[in-house]
Amino acid sequence: MLSIYNSKSKQKEIFKPLRANEVTLYVCGMTVYDYCHIGHARMMVAFDVINRYLRYCGYKVKYVRNITDIDDKIIRRALENKEPMEVLTTRFINALIKDMRALGTLPPDLEPKATDYVPQMISLIETLLHKGFAYVGSTGDVYFDVMQFKNYGKLAHKDLEALEAGARIAIEEAKKTPLDFVLWKLSKENEPYWPSPWGNGRPGWHTECVVMSSLELGQPFDIHGGGNDLKFPHHENEIAQAECAYGKPFVNYWMHVGFVEINKEKMSKSLNNFFTIREVLREWKNEVVRYFLLSGHYRSPVDYSLEALEGAQNALDRLYGALRGIDLTTGTIENEVAKAHEVRFMVAMDDDFNTPIALSVLFDLARELNRSKVEEPSNVTALAQMLKKLAAVLGLLVSPVESYFQKDAHSVIDANEIEALIALRQSARLEKNWAKADEIRQQLAQKGVVIEDSGDGTTWRYQ
Ligand SMILES: [Zn+2]
Repeated sequence: MLSIYNSKSKQKEIFKPLRANEVTLYVCGMTVYDYCHIGHARMMVAFDVINRYLRYCGYKVKYVRNITDIDDKIIRRALENKEPMEVLTTRFINALIKDMRALGTLPPDLEPKATDYVPQMISLIETLLHKGFAYVGSTGDVYFDVMQFKNYGKLAHKDLEALEAGARIAIEEAKKTPLDFVLWKLSKENEPYWPSPWGNGRPGWHTECVVMSSLELGQPFDIHGGGNDLKFPHHENEIAQAECAYGKPFVNYWMHVGFVEINKEKMSKSLNNFFTIREVLREWKNEVVRYFLLSGHYRSPVDYSLEALEGAQNALDRLYGALRGIDLTTGTIENEVAKAHEVRFMVAMDDDFNTPIALSVLFDLARELNRSKVEEPSNVTALAQMLKKLAAVLGLLVSPVESYFQKDAHSVIDANEIEALIALRQSARLEKNWAKADEIRQQLAQKGVVIEDSGDGTTWRYQ
């Protein structure tokens, strides 16, 4: 029986989906103004494994992960780059898709963009105003009135006074109380905007996830997830809006993923101690990075270090090594020893997706497989097939064995670099900076890459 640690109750609970055999899962995705780093990768890979395991257990999963494509940081970056916001966000959405593919994450069933839901967000804000949970501040921006929601702070496990004390420093004149958060923000000059009953502006970040999750999954839905840093205020603010607007519970299980740390500090853009996914994939094989990210339990922090990645590399070499020289196209998986390992693997994963223990079961299986090669040859195929099958639940051992050992870590990133250069060239072309566009074409040609433009965009091939 699967149990999940619910951040809201702060304990493991037996998982009971709202509809038998179906799971509705919503994860807060990326704000697309820059490349993703390894901290983001961990959150994405953690939910990828959760999604894969739920499917492995026979659930029909609807997995929605949003894309935040309107936000202060995006607007600022687009202005700095002197490019239209959509050009910036499209470039980083494409980069995100490539990074996620490189890490072997399955695409979500739906990846909605915030800008596609603005009218629905406006109607949510209208409902909140109508019901007295929101107000128009003195500057014309619309705010959520936190004092009207008695359950505020239940997810963060803090009372209003403690939260207020923390928020007081950042008080804005237009708000009634420091914790109130913006629902609709009027646009300044040069900023993108949508018309609304309160003037031209844009929705606040906390509103988009309420609208996209409730519309696509219903309310309540089963699991809402994200990074640990989203618990407060983002998820607290989501709950406040959803429950006040619709008068019913929002989410049954809240799941939060721990940080990637460097020297005990959180890897983040603001601390400038991050490595982008593509930088790391330049040095390490995709599955090695994935293994490293799964080597700790998803709720605990994992420490990013050279030793940790070397350890992941050695571990994966051993698992792949056990499969070497075995014909996996024949034989049956039906075997008692193999089955016993599957049971142990599932016990580990049923315990709040405990990947470190699940990985240790894979090692026991590999050890048993190596032993059988000498002592019990009739077990070999079944054990090898079971190893492949269980590892695939973690998105591991998915390459053909020999190609794993031959694969050069650099081969993947080359394609990413090419795409990044093509995107740069595309922006140059939009700005009619033909000299720069030509320079990039030359640069690619020197690396043996030919690009071809057509009505549908730019394609490339090696010479
Ligand atoms: Zn969100």
